[in-house]
Amino acid sequence: MSKTADTVVIGGGIIGAATGYYLAKMGHKVVLLERDFPCSGSTGRCIGGIRAQFTHDLSIRVMLESIRIFSKLGDELGQSVEWHQGGYLFLAFDLERKKAFLDAIRIQQGYGLNVEFISADKCGQIVPGLDQEGLVGGAYCPTDGQADPFKVTYGYLAGIKRLGGEVLVRTEVKQVRVRRGRVVSVVTDKGDEIFAPNILNAAGCWADDVGKMVGVEIPVKADRHESLVTESVERLFDPMLVDYRSDGCYFVQHIGTGHFIGCYTPVPLVPGLQIDSSDEFITEMPRRMVRLVPKLGGVKVLRQWAGSYGMSPDGSPLCGKTPVDGFYVASGMSGHGFMFGPAIGKLMAELIVSGEPSLPLDQFALDRDFSKAEAMK
Ligand SMILES: Cc1cc2nc3c(=O)[nH]c(=O)nc-3n(C[C@H](O)[C@H](O)[C@H](O)COP(=O)(O)OP(=O)(O)OC[C@H]3O[C@@H](n4cnc5c(N)ncnc54)[C@H](O)[C@@H]3O)c2cc1C
Repeated sequence: MSKTADTVVIGGGIIGAATGYYLAKMGHKVVLLERDFPCSGSTGRCIGGIRAQFTHDLSIRVMLESIRIFSKLGDELGQSVEWHQGGYLFLAFDLERKKAFLDAIRIQQGYGLNVEFISADKCGQIVPGLDQEGLVGGAYCPTDGQADPFKVTYGYLAGIKRLGGEVLVRTEVKQVRVRRGRVVSVVTDKGDEIFAPNILNAAGCWADDVGKMVGVEIPVKADRHESLVTESVERLFDPMLVDYRSDGCYFVQHIGTGHFIGCYTPVPLVPGLQIDSSDEFITEMPRRMVRLVPKLGGVKVLRQWAGSYGMSPDGSPLCGKTPVDGFYVASGMSGHGFMFGPAIGKLMAELIVSGEPSLPLDQFALDRDFSKAEAMK
């Protein structure tokens, strides 16, 4: 069977879903192909944190746009996405970290972000029960927040269908056909061919496999990250708490249910696509949470799981055109793809439809200089 579309989107995570939605809204006939089920990749394993506290120029501007979209997304999609503007509090336990945060804050305030360095006492007021032992203070931005990755992604997918597009699950792209340097079609594992002048590679950690189908290298490498969720408890505090120490962690209380959900970045990193759960995480993570907020002692863990961060070489997304005409990429979200999703989706759709996104995406281009890494990873 063959069919046609204006744009074929490969991948049913947040990036494919958001881009497909904005494309459909701009009048494109969209066919989105997901080899498994929506959110089966990294998106369904993410903890829903959303922040504009970055140091990279375009990341900050994209996140200001994403937060603007998140704040109205429930109305736009006609369903709650559990958006809650509870803030992010990055804790500093030494003067070197404080200086790094102050440098970042200076950059962020230049974009009008409401962020400041607050004292240890003020941190304790925002997070009642926080152990202030050794705490120097924290970088606090009250306009950061959280939302539900499933509700956001499924909301965008429903929007694609409402706008006349198609979402085909359990459908894997096996081949991307190119003629005279231009994309022509994709061929699926069911043998169907879908012809389109535009093809978006939104395959997350697998973007390099899809890129290879047209001879384009996408420098994305997967690292394993683990998470847990606790039983629900009375409301304790609002912000995502981030401890950047080598034995630190980050966690937030879910606004709707009262569960705590959190992760840490392992040292050393665990490269590769395996998403097994470790004994180390399930013993270490609760210890780290209780060290920061002792009154969490005794709260039971319900579940642990793991997923992958699709890392680019410098920790910023890979978005834009490729050397093959009509073949676009939006991948390498480096652990921040959920929060980037709404704005990246809108900007990629503008790029595909008009060639001119409302924020130029050059700083995320595939052929950029990767030597300057994001400091607020
Ligand atoms: C533990 C953990 C916590 C996280 N917490 C946060 C957070 O708080 N905030 C945040 O912003 N981000 C967070 N992230 C990162 C975030 O989950 C990712 O950056 C984001 O989900 C990437 O979305 P994506 O659409 O690019 O990729 P994915 O969600 O992986 O989607 C890609 C999809 O492509 C499909 N696919 C691949 N190849 C093919 C093919 N050939 N044909 C068809 N389909 C294909 C896959 O099945 C997959 O569903 C977290 C990640 C993890 C693992």
